[in-house]
Formats: sequence, structure tokens, C-alpha cells
Amino acid sequence: MEVPQFDCQPRLSEPMTEFTFETDAQHAPYNYAHLVDDRSHCYHRFDVDPAYDDGVVDPETGRRDAPPDFGARRRAIVEFYGHRCGRCATRVDTGSADHGEVAYLFSVADDAADSWALRQLVAVCEPCYDLLSTDCADQIGGFGDAYRRAPQFPAWTGDPRVAVERLPLTGREVWFRDRLSDRVAVEPPAGESVNAAAAREACLARSTPAAVAVALNEVLLADERGPLSTANRRLSDRWDALSEREQSEYERCAVDAETVVGGGFEPCVDLQRA
Ligand SMILES: [Zn+2]
Repeated sequence: MEVPQFDCQPRLSEPMTEFTFETDAQHAPYNYAHLVDDRSHCYHRFDVDPAYDDGVVDPETGRRDAPPDFGARRRAIVEFYGHRCGRCATRVDTGSADHGEVAYLFSVADDAADSWALRQLVAVCEPCYDLLSTDCADQIGGFGDAYRRAPQFPAWTGDPRVAVERLPLTGREVWFRDRLSDRVAVEPPAGESVNAAAAREACLARSTPAAVAVALNEVLLADERGPLSTANRRLSDRWDALSEREQSEYERCAVDAETVVGGGFEPCVDLQRA
């Protein structure tokens, strides 16, 4: 029987072992493709007017709205991201929901004046959009509880700028995160991570560097899909085998999304201090 760790603190600073990427980009801590691939040809191909890269400002209210060629931008970006969510890689589409989640555009621009430029836009599914766009000053619930469906960890194939880890919302997620972090051996790049701005903005995101966040997802997938042996049970089976009391202790460490936003900032801040 495993001795449960009941501390709520992330353990990212501990030595990491076991993990290596089995991809072509063995030395890349995350996927660089969406950062370096040129998007300028998309303007012509999808009939996007660069003059609208900064959106449209209403002269009366001063509010910045979506550009009139929003639909074309959305088609361009969804195509550019291969009809996959830039965070979790689930299938997204601009048409009916039959072809995947409805695609949203998330802007990673620092400056509002550049927020609709194609290089600043990421195609994301509704749950990931809800996660990324819910900032600490807002009320959660703009999309119901769609954020709960956003996977805890971002996919390696996505865009590292939005590769944020979601706060654990259940005891199971707290326990999984603890176990998985022991298996990750990735040195995040020096300095601020490429996902830092998105992580700061999103109330339900942790400050985990992109390199570590995608590595956590890789070890989760390896655990779910790797070969089974009696000595090495899957995490889901090990969680199920915990006693009710042990599970409820982890439940206590999970984040209550309502209190993160509803005035109680402490859980948010504490857990983000990775
Ligand atoms: Zn997604």
C-alpha cells in the first residue's frame, strides 16, 4: 500500500527521473512548429485582410471588436493547426459539431493592437478556450463548466504558448499530478517559459513551464497506453485501490473553482507557486 502524501504543494523542484522524449525532436522540450512556421501565406489563401490585424475599434465606446473577416481568420487558423486544438489536440472544426469541437480563436498577443494578427492566434476547443480565457478578475462560468473538460495537461503537439497545466479540480487529479511529476525529467529552458503569459492570465492554470506541462502529459499517456505488468499497475488502477479515506484526503487538496475566482484567491496563488 502506498503511503499517501497529503501535502498540497506541487513537487516540481524535486529531482526528476525516467522521462525521455521518443520523438524526432529529442532535444526540444516542446513542439516548436507553431512558433516557427510561417503563416503569412494564409492571408492571401484565406482572403484575410492584414489591415484588420488590430481588430476594429468602436469610435464611440472605444471597445475593440473582432475584425469583419473573423470567419476567414478562423478558417485560416483552424487549417493551420491541422483541425486540432492548439492546447489539447482534440479535433476542432469551424462547421458542425459532427466534425469535432467547435473551434475558438485565442489570441496570445501582449498588445491589444496586434491581437488579431494570424501569428498571434491559436485554434482551441471550447473547454481549452474557457480555461485560457477565464482570468482572475472574471467570474468562472462564461461557458458553464466547460473548463472542467479541458484536459489537465497540454498535448506535446500543440502550441507551447498555450501549453498550460490546469489546476487539479479533483482528488484524483491531485494524486495523478503527484505521481506523474516523479516520472518527469525535463529541464525547462532558462528564463520565463513560453507559456508564462497565458499561465498568468488564466485563473485556473498553474505556472508550470510549458516543457514540464507537456512532459507530464507524455508520461500520463505512457501510463495509460503502455504495456501492463503485474508489478507496474496503471495509475488509474492504483487510484481505485486507495481507501475512501485516502481518496478524500486528496479531494481536500483539490481546487474548488468557485473559490479561486469568488474572492478567495489563496488556493489559486498557493498552487501556482510551483
Ligand atoms: Zn483543447
